[in-house]
Amino acid sequence: MARRLNQLRKSTLSTHEHLTCSSSILSSSSPRTPGKKAIKGDPIITGIRLRPFLDRESAIDDTPAVQIFETNVICTQNGRPQIFKFTNCFDSSANNKNVYDGMIRSAVLASLQGYNTTVLAYGQTASGKSHSIFGSSNEEGILSLSIDHLITMNGNHHLKFELSFLEIYNEKVTDLLATPAVSTEPSTTKSSSFSKNARTHILNKFACNSTRTLEIREHPLLGPYVPDLKYIQVKTKEDFQNVLNLGNQQRSVASTNANQRSSRSHAIFSVKISRNDVPQSTAKRLLFESNSTSNGKNSSLSNANNKKSVKQQALDELEEQSVRLNFVDLAGSEKSQQFHGSKGKNDRFAESVHINQSLSTLRNVIDALSRQQHHIPYRDSSLTYLLKNSLGGDAKTYMLATISPSSTVIDETINTLRYAGLTAI
Ligand code: ADP
Ligand code: MG
Repeated sequence: MARRLNQLRKSTLSTHEHLTCSSSILSSSSPRTPGKKAIKGDPIITGIRLRPFLDRESAIDDTPAVQIFETNVICTQNGRPQIFKFTNCFDSSANNKNVYDGMIRSAVLASLQGYNTTVLAYGQTASGKSHSIFGSSNEEGILSLSIDHLITMNGNHHLKFELSFLEIYNEKVTDLLATPAVSTEPSTTKSSSFSKNARTHILNKFACNSTRTLEIREHPLLGPYVPDLKYIQVKTKEDFQNVLNLGNQQRSVASTNANQRSSRSHAIFSVKISRNDVPQSTAKRLLFESNSTSNGKNSSLSNANNKKSVKQQALDELEEQSVRLNFVDLAGSEKSQQFHGSKGKNDRFAESVHINQSLSTLRNVIDALSRQQHHIPYRDSSLTYLLKNSLGGDAKTYMLATISPSSTVIDETINTLRYAGLTAI
């Protein structure tokens, strides 16, 4: 595994060399020894983003309860100021590009160096998580800016990018790119190039697409994965935008059915980065297997004692060499409200139990990793279980905590700052 990841690192680094990139990560030391355990306090890079007032907030009270001065976040609660310190702070004048340049760009570079990398957006509902990740009609989000960067860096088409987009709602996983029986693609492959026809077909089918819950399984070498998750290969920014629109449309369909479900679900947008050139040894084994199958002869390895086929081994190796760059739009972190009336009360209660459980597990996992504890409680939530390979060990984690300036939600803002403070370096 270590040797193979190193191959990917070397290949991605040479991509950068072609582009004479002068980023600090790339130009500093050589990549960290792959496969090495995270060292104590291995950085979880944390940033705070204060958004501007919304009209409905300033109509009640337009005096900011939160202010940012350099690396200090100053909150005023009941007339009493509290100061929180963070390395990356973005005040209400910052746009998504500023956040990208100040913090997220290094996450993209880390993924290009062969590190599984995760960017988490944490905060209460309406604090600006989705705005930061996905952007708006007026500005691109950090996800789009990251894809831009990846595609520009891959001028020589050395790397392959495949996207997946899933939602975790009440601990259940739904594929946001799932297509109800799309016939325009060969059924033998899960990964496919995105075509306009397929998209039109999918969009037409949305109205009657009942969402299907997917299982999480654990591969002995590769860790947790979702077997039927769809991956779509993208080569251009337009391809990416189509995939994003597709997933977001699916997400909003689910929201209409379950009343603003998007703020009570986690969404994980993953970019799988792999090499376009298959290493010779792996290619040979893939060829060997397909020849032996087409000749009708059984490979002694593929059938004897139920052993894994040579082809499967080669495919696993390829999978091992790929790297994930994940963007996670977490569910709103606010404490559960009292719900009046019986309709929906149980649903909201179940939702808040699941959200609290997964967000506290996320914090426990990050905490246990930074303390190098023996037991890391990944399995305590679907979110952390799925992100297992992208949070611990040889991975980089970024957390962007978003907050509102309004005095009406100052208690939740302070909770967010405390949560992010526990994970900050
Ligand atoms: P969340 O995903 O945390 O629930 P949203 O991203 O949907 O919150 O943001 C809530 C509202 O605030 C949206 O109308 C969004 O456009 C606006 N908003 C959030 N962050 C910003 C920002 N940095 N600048 C301008 N408007 C923002
Ligand atoms: Mg949102």
